[in-house]
Amino acid sequence: MIASRAARILVVLALAPALAKAQTRTELLDRLVRAYPEALSGHDDKRILWRDGTAMPVDDGVDDKSFDQRLRDASIIDQLRLSYPVGVSAPPALNADPGRFRNEAFFKKMYGDCRSGAVQRNLVTIIWLPRSWGRAIQVTRINGVADRLKEVSAEIDKLDPALRAAAFPIAGVLSCRPVADTGRMSMHGYAAAIDLNLRYSDYWLWAGRGKSVSYKNRMPREIVDIFERHGFIWGGKWYHYDTMHFEYRPELLAR
Ligand SMILES: [Zn+2]
Repeated sequence: MIASRAARILVVLALAPALAKAQTRTELLDRLVRAYPEALSGHDDKRILWRDGTAMPVDDGVDDKSFDQRLRDASIIDQLRLSYPVGVSAPPALNADPGRFRNEAFFKKMYGDCRSGAVQRNLVTIIWLPRSWGRAIQVTRINGVADRLKEVSAEIDKLDPALRAAAFPIAGVLSCRPVADTGRMSMHGYAAAIDLNLRYSDYWLWAGRGKSVSYKNRMPREIVDIFERHGFIWGGKWYHYDTMHFEYRPELLAR
C-alpha cells in the first residue's frame, strides 16, 4: 500500500514538469486571446487565429535565442515569455524587460503600419487631463485604447497636484520610428503608448552604454497603478528602464 502510493507520487513528480510547461504555453496563449477580444478569436498549439480568418504561427522554432535576438526577432510566444510584475516595485533583475519582446507582424496586423498611414487612419482625439492640462492628444481607437486612456486621464486628474505633475505635459504618443537599441517599432509606432513628463523621466541609455545599468525612477507609484489597472504596462518595470513610458499590453497584466 505504502509502496504503491510512493510509486504513484513518483509518477506524478516525473510528469509534473512536462505538464506544467504545456499548461503554461496554453495559458499564455489563452491570456493573449482574452486580452484582444476584438481582434483574436482563438488559438491552437501552433497558431493564433484572428477574427478575419488569418492564422499566425505562435513560434518560429528557435528556442535558444539570446536576449538581443529576442528583442530583434521575437515570435508571438517570445512576447509572452517574461512575466510582468503587477504592483511590485523592486528594481528589475538583469535583462528583465517584460513587454520589450514584440512580434512586429502581430502588432502591425493589430494596429496597422505607420509607414503606410494605416495607423494614422485609426487615430482619435482625446483631452489629456482636462482638469490639470487639457490639451488634445491623438491615440489609436483600436482595442479601445483611446477609451482606456480617457479613464486613466480621469483618474490621474484626481490625484494630488504634486503627483499628477509627472503626467503632463506629455512627451508624445505616435512616433513612427524604430527603438534605438532594437531596430524594431515600439508601441509608439502604433499610437498605443504614451510618454509622460520628460522632466520626471529616467531612461537607461542616458547613463551611457556601460556594462551594468543602475536603476532610477521618479514616476509616482500612484500613476503606475492607475495605468496598470487599465491595461498599460510601465517602462519603469524594465531592467532597460524608460520611466515616462506606458504601453497598452493587457496580455501581460491578465491574471
Ligand atoms: Zn515611450
